[in-house]
Amino acid sequence: MTQYQQLDSKAFISLSARLAAAMRSQETARCDRIFNDPFATQLVSAEAFAFLAQRKIKPEEEGRPYVVVRTRFFDNFLLAKQTPQVVILASGMDTRAFRLPWLVNTKVYELDQSEVLSYKNAVLKDVLSTCQRCAIAADLTQPWSHLPLLQGYRPNIPSIWLIEGLLMYLNLDQVDMLTTVSQLAVTGSWLGLDVINTRAIQSATDSDFRGYWRSGFDNPEALLANYGWKANVIQPGDEGAHFGRYTCKLPPRDVPNVERVFLVTAQKLPLLAAE
Ligand code: SAM
Repeated sequence: MTQYQQLDSKAFISLSARLAAAMRSQETARCDRIFNDPFATQLVSAEAFAFLAQRKIKPEEEGRPYVVVRTRFFDNFLLAKQTPQVVILASGMDTRAFRLPWLVNTKVYELDQSEVLSYKNAVLKDVLSTCQRCAIAADLTQPWSHLPLLQGYRPNIPSIWLIEGLLMYLNLDQVDMLTTVSQLAVTGSWLGLDVINTRAIQSATDSDFRGYWRSGFDNPEALLANYGWKANVIQPGDEGAHFGRYTCKLPPRDVPNVERVFLVTAQKLPLLAAE
């Protein structure tokens, strides 16, 4: 057991935000990088780099740099769908509010735990955002719908929501925070998220994460339909989700007993269609 597997869940999840930043930092340093996150390195802690260094599994060498591919996939999604309001839940060290070319007057809301946002705000205090950025401290497992509304979020105009690297850490009851997302998103709004499947929780080849993952879904289309969204589901490595870097292609979805992760994009259906 590594020192990291002794972390309690809350401590590990907070560290996970800096792990993602560490992966984006390493990607940014590559000549063949698939995105440029010039702020990632400032946001990483020594602990996060040490964690990556001691891992037995090296996803990059195995052709499955998941966080890197996920970042580019959702960069593309956000830029393709641009709406006046963008809400990034569990934003962690996500720097899209500082690095993506948003349309004029785009407002980006970031919600995460207060200590995570305080750290990020302090590190990036002198960096100009490329949008109107609004950081909101929130526990997404508690009622939170009033928080973006208090900061000017308008539920009657289109929005894009992003939930990267969160749902697997929540238990099934807590995943019901998707109800709040659906209540705040008008018909036609967009949602991007990632989920792991149930097999990934049971076996978790990636032992560094074993024990921290709580919920998995084998049918993300059905999960999203329950909340009134029409989902498009893709696996990293598939066409449109490899960027020449995720070379370890997953088997088709009907092959059983495979650990999987899904990249999901969805659009909010009209109320009648959702019923
Ligand atoms: N989305 C970011 C990314 O892809 O780099 C961060 C992902 S990180 C794996 C998980 C994030 O979820 C952390 O920033 C953590 O603070 C946040 N988080 C976990 N539980 C939360 C909760 N109950 N309320 C708010 N944020 C939470």
